[in-house]
Amino acid sequence: MDVPSPMSGTVEEVHVQVNDKVSEGQLIVSINPGAKEQDAPSAITSDQPATTHNTSTNSSAITPTADLTTQSDLHAEIVVLGSGPGGYTAAFRAADLGKKVILIEQHKTLGGVCLNVGCIPSKALLHAAKVISESKEIGEFGISFGKPKVDLDKLRGWKNGVVSKLTKGLTGLSKQRKVEIVEGHGQFSGPNMIDVQTTNGLKRISFDAAIIAAGSHVTKIPGIPYDDPRVMDSTDALTLQSIPKSMLVIGGGIIGLEMATVYQALGTKITVVELADSLIPGADKDIVRPLHKRLLTQYEGIHLKTKVTALTAEKNGLKAQFKGDNVPTTNSFEKVLVAVGRKPNGKAIGAQLAGIHVEDSGFIPVNKQMKTNIPHIYAIGDVAGNPMLAHKATHEGKLAAEVAAGLKGSFDAKTIPSVAYTDPEIAWMGITETQAKSEGIEFEKATFPWAASGRSLATGRDEGITKLLFDKNTKRLIGAAIVGSNAGELIGETVLALEMGADAEDIGLTIHPHPTLSESIFFAAEIAEGSITDLYMPKKKL
Ligand SMILES: Cc1cc2nc3c(=O)[nH]c(=O)nc-3n(C[C@H](O)[C@H](O)[C@H](O)COP(=O)(O)OP(=O)(O)OC[C@H]3O[C@@H](n4cnc5c(N)ncnc54)[C@H](O)[C@@H]3O)c2cc1C
Repeated sequence: MDVPSPMSGTVEEVHVQVNDKVSEGQLIVSINPGAKEQDAPSAITSDQPATTHNTSTNSSAITPTADLTTQSDLHAEIVVLGSGPGGYTAAFRAADLGKKVILIEQHKTLGGVCLNVGCIPSKALLHAAKVISESKEIGEFGISFGKPKVDLDKLRGWKNGVVSKLTKGLTGLSKQRKVEIVEGHGQFSGPNMIDVQTTNGLKRISFDAAIIAAGSHVTKIPGIPYDDPRVMDSTDALTLQSIPKSMLVIGGGIIGLEMATVYQALGTKITVVELADSLIPGADKDIVRPLHKRLLTQYEGIHLKTKVTALTAEKNGLKAQFKGDNVPTTNSFEKVLVAVGRKPNGKAIGAQLAGIHVEDSGFIPVNKQMKTNIPHIYAIGDVAGNPMLAHKATHEGKLAAEVAAGLKGSFDAKTIPSVAYTDPEIAWMGITETQAKSEGIEFEKATFPWAASGRSLATGRDEGITKLLFDKNTKRLIGAAIVGSNAGELIGETVLALEMGADAEDIGLTIHPHPTLSESIFFAAEIAEGSITDLYMPKKKL
């Protein structure tokens, strides 16, 4: 096994040799913690790798700016621009480390995209969708509830209530920590100054260190009449204004399919077009297949390798023109949801006036301590690189706050898991099979079909798959992909296994509770070990 260093520094002396026997607590290596850190190894991401850029790792975390305070209205030791999951986490951690923190947010509520118009409202509506579809499907068990009556105002109100509980909670947590909130649009006006346009005029905030957590916005594509209210992005779709009879979803990625799941359950006829040759393009095709198969029974159409070439607003609907194989050339829809991705907000914060490098894409390159090319200015979350996920933003937010407060640390997570909260859910982490093949990584694969899981069958579902990938030589887990109910919850165990350097034997010898879906991970490890008894697999040990 590997023994991770409990601290960073430079190795000064190694006290043992290869093949020496060591016992717990024995001195193995002497480290000088004062020495300059090296960049940690890159994160393995399930999507694109996190943007990294070698910038100066100036060890002084904070540049004092006492002289600037005479020109500013407020001064912060650490200022955070944007209050999404990355920003509020950074602000709270910095305050907990004793820093005077100002958090700038242009909207009235804290929480950013995730809490207000992303992760949380979508999951609230997906829960309602799940109850609707399960109440229908349980008819096969001999239980019938009849057709659901949807009170849209009440459903919307309930979803808004969930959001409001969380965002108000953030305001409370800010007060408890004495984090000062400044409401308004902030722009850098220099390397140690942000100007905020508030309802009471301009507020100048000088700072010693800044953390940019400005997030991302919806990507627009040409040829779409965006000013027509029948054309929606994910934010519009989440407002649940009506249940259209028909809806075209442009983009078969995670966000498009999650919203399609909600509207389909509420009664909308869904058509999906996707440019790539598979839904959820980042995931392995064998894992996406069970979802695709189920959606084909629910949707009007799923058109892969297809492009919308024009969308015309007509009185009775939005007329879409398609280019692709086996797709009608035109069709009309009551509403259209455009879900083709998000763009980072790096170009909208006056970064150039602080000398911060911003890529043409809008991403702000950072090193593994989340520092931009200006060493006392950090960037985190969606604005700092792919994958654009809330759990990446919070992890980076904490790290940036700690480094800015003078602690040592760097981004060394081995993976960032991805989840599509569709039905069935899809989750993956580490290296995908597609990636392993294209990069020539030698691996062993173990796949457990949920048709052999008692727990899965007991819920009336059998399409799930748990796939584990192990390094051929070390037998350590290097990747996992799951499709099935609660895949998003299950993937956490595999992330921990990867971080801990677990191999198939470690997972296979860990007693999992029965009957659970988590057993599917254990069974897959047993398949890799050649020791499974719940399936008959004449297979030699790896
Ligand atoms: C529909 C949908 C569903 C999603 N579901 C999930 C999910 O289930 N799981 C998941 O991990 N991710 C999900 N995401 C992605 C997730 O929301 C983002 O990755 C996450 O919110 C990024 O956090 P962030 O802190 O980087 O930025 P954001 O959450 O985008 O927050 C940025 C904040 O900065 C503010 N801001 C920006 N510029 C300025 C400025 N100049 N002045 C003042 N304020 C400014 C913005 O108003 C915003 O509040 C979803 C996204 C969408 C759209």
